[in-house]
Amino acid sequence: MNDGEAHLAPYAARSAASRGRVHAEAPAATRTDFQRDRDRIVHSTAFRRLEYKTQVFVNHEGDLFRTRLTHSLEVAQIARALARALRANEDLVEAIALAHDLGHTPFGHAGQDALNDCMRPYGGFEHNLQSLRVVDELEERYAAFDGLNLCFETREGILKHCSPDNARRLGALGERFLLRRQPSLEAQITNLADEIAYNNHDIDDGLRSGLLKLAQLDEVPIFARHARALRAEHPGLPERRLIHETVRRMINALVVDLLAESRRRIEGAAPASIDDVRAAPPLVAFSEPVRAEADALKSFLFDHLYRHFQVMRMTEKAKRIVRELFDAFLGEPRLLPPDHRRRVERDGPRAIADYVAGMTDRYAIKEHRRLFAVGEI
Ligand code: MG
Repeated sequence: MNDGEAHLAPYAARSAASRGRVHAEAPAATRTDFQRDRDRIVHSTAFRRLEYKTQVFVNHEGDLFRTRLTHSLEVAQIARALARALRANEDLVEAIALAHDLGHTPFGHAGQDALNDCMRPYGGFEHNLQSLRVVDELEERYAAFDGLNLCFETREGILKHCSPDNARRLGALGERFLLRRQPSLEAQITNLADEIAYNNHDIDDGLRSGLLKLAQLDEVPIFARHARALRAEHPGLPERRLIHETVRRMINALVVDLLAESRRRIEGAAPASIDDVRAAPPLVAFSEPVRAEADALKSFLFDHLYRHFQVMRMTEKAKRIVRELFDAFLGEPRLLPPDHRRRVERDGPRAIADYVAGMTDRYAIKEHRRLFAVGEI
């Protein structure tokens, strides 16, 4: 087997010491187990659909905005850079990053909120749990098992949060939520790489869409500080370049701070194994002042972008589409394609949630039109 893991720190996750897969498999000839997990994720159907799913903007609004696919790639890039610097397992963070959003509904959080409302009497719907369901059960690719049969550590990283009820249901994977323990360093890294990626690219997309104005961002200290320094260095810099360069510097500053703070915490806790990491307090974190700045950026985006009236109009429309699709299928399962109808006979409303959650933005819009528009079939 490939020993690309010899350079790792003692606290890193190692393929050879993995808690394993649900279905035992012989090791791959040329790849570590985590590399194999990453490859399985890249080849999955749910991964390809990420191209047509979005978070803030709906897929057809423009070709320049991030999709869940490009978001996942940005998270993987940032997570790998962090993992390399901390001598953690790059392959594992890449696998987690590429899989972390597989369970997202069409239309991002609006879709998830609507589906959660629909599923309330049947156990609710949570995208994070759905990502796990995709890799554990829903992908149909392998002869011997459902799902992708990923390693425990990859699945642990995908499951970022979880209610106590769900945690009890999930056995070994849910244990840490009941015991209030941490996941691997790799999972912690990917979680914060996700936050760095979306905060920064939402600023970029928000400005590009015209929903945010550059002047508004003066009230966001981390943006204002970097933009001010940049204007002093390069007077008269065109706005487009100013935005990109400022975002670039913000990402860099967040990464540098995160590495310094995490190194300080790792030194203090001196974990000698992945189990020490799990038992320690969170080891991957921003420093206090940068945490405060990142939170200020988050709440700015919440107030001015995610709650912008034009975004809200789309959000409400998206919720309506998801709700109406779900209700139509629940009321009459014979509207479903035959294989999904059979799943509903077996699994009840959960199978409808799986079908709706698996849709891309444009597929959901089309399906809604097919069901509700007179003159469409
Ligand atoms: Mg994400």
